Amino acid sequence: MTEKAAVGRDAFDRVILPVYSPAKFIPVKGKGSRVWDQQGTEYVDFAGGIAVTALGHCHPALVEALHKQGETLWHVSNVFTNEPALRLAQKLIDATFADRVFFANSGAEANEAAFKLARYYSSAKHSPYKSKIIAFHNGFHGRTLFTVSVGGQPKYSDGFGPKPADIVHVPFNDLDAVKAVIDDHTCAIVVEPIQGEGGVTPATQAFLQGLRELCDANKALLVFDEVQSGMGRSGKLFSYMHYGVTPDILTTAKALGGGFPVSAMITTEEVASVMAPGKHGTTYGGNPLACAVAEAALDVINTPEVLAGIEERRNAFIQALEAINAKYHVFSEFRGQGLLIGAELADKYKNRAGEFLTASAEFGLMMLVAGTNVLRFAPSLVIDFADISEGMARFEKAVKKIVG
Ligand SMILES: *Cc1c(COP(=O)(O)O)cnc(C)c1O
Repeated sequence: MTEKAAVGRDAFDRVILPVYSPAKFIPVKGKGSRVWDQQGTEYVDFAGGIAVTALGHCHPALVEALHKQGETLWHVSNVFTNEPALRLAQKLIDATFADRVFFANSGAEANEAAFKLARYYSSAKHSPYKSKIIAFHNGFHGRTLFTVSVGGQPKYSDGFGPKPADIVHVPFNDLDAVKAVIDDHTCAIVVEPIQGEGGVTPATQAFLQGLRELCDANKALLVFDEVQSGMGRSGKLFSYMHYGVTPDILTTAKALGGGFPVSAMITTEEVASVMAPGKHGTTYGGNPLACAVAEAALDVINTPEVLAGIEERRNAFIQALEAINAKYHVFSEFRGQGLLIGAELADKYKNRAGEFLTASAEFGLMMLVAGTNVLRFAPSLVIDFADISEGMARFEKAVKKIVG
């Protein structure tokens, strides 16, 4: 047997493209909502791999699906179809507004497919000049050139131009701003029902409803990016179900595979009808391994027990955060939906979210930020209440250290 060379955190700075600045420790093992690093130090996981490990680490149903499929069939490409992809597609259709599914491997790819489909649909059904995409400041849709361009954070797209054209950005939750730019050349409005990266900000009911009406009046498609808010994160299978506003195209990724890379774009028969073999594609999308794991994840998440438990867990998080805030006065607001929780820092701690992240790690807690002003909690949807208490005890130590 050949020994693997020991690798440490210092290797990162030599061998990985410097686009991340990961924590100083290296996680090597996870179970449920606990993670261990190379030194055996244990962490409570409130980050969930950025809203991905929705059933915690190494959930038995997902491990079983992966093992079983791993010993059966890994990959055939889209020159052939496969049973796990067909089963998963049918389950997504049964659970949502959609009639058709396209599988890909990441959120950005699902969005890339969504934006291309919106443009193609408008071009085929209406006019090649009907290409305008309306999107929102602080929106995040991924890192391909099209998706960073639709995203509303120029720091992610500047310097990578020329950018795709005919994309306009207006303030989130501002219906008048949308009214001012929408016209009959608009092909789509792209929106996250809860802005995740942009600060954990839910859309208002009136806003999403207004967007639906504006799309209908202008023959434009409504695209919901539920890459982060979907698959139970919000307390319902998809966030649009809270609002009762149905999109024409929806994307899901992150929690879809519970940690196995897989994403999906789902849409109606009408919108799907403009596509034909060869118009779009991917080598890995709908891979049997990915779809088998995602099917297992969907089977667990889309049950009344798991979905009902999300609101209870949210309440436990908010109560603990309010108790900490009553002592230390570090937050100005808690927001979000379900187990996507944003805690906005009070003015005194402005732009210091990163310090809270680092301090939390010192006390054995994995946390996230959303920008520089908001701490983000995106734990497992089935996190034990004991893990919430223990994680919050550690979080309080981190807060205490910073407040001094
Ligand atoms: C994470 C995220 C993406 C990008 O997903 P990747 O898998 O990183 O490509 C897109 N949209 C939203 C809302 C996200 O949170």
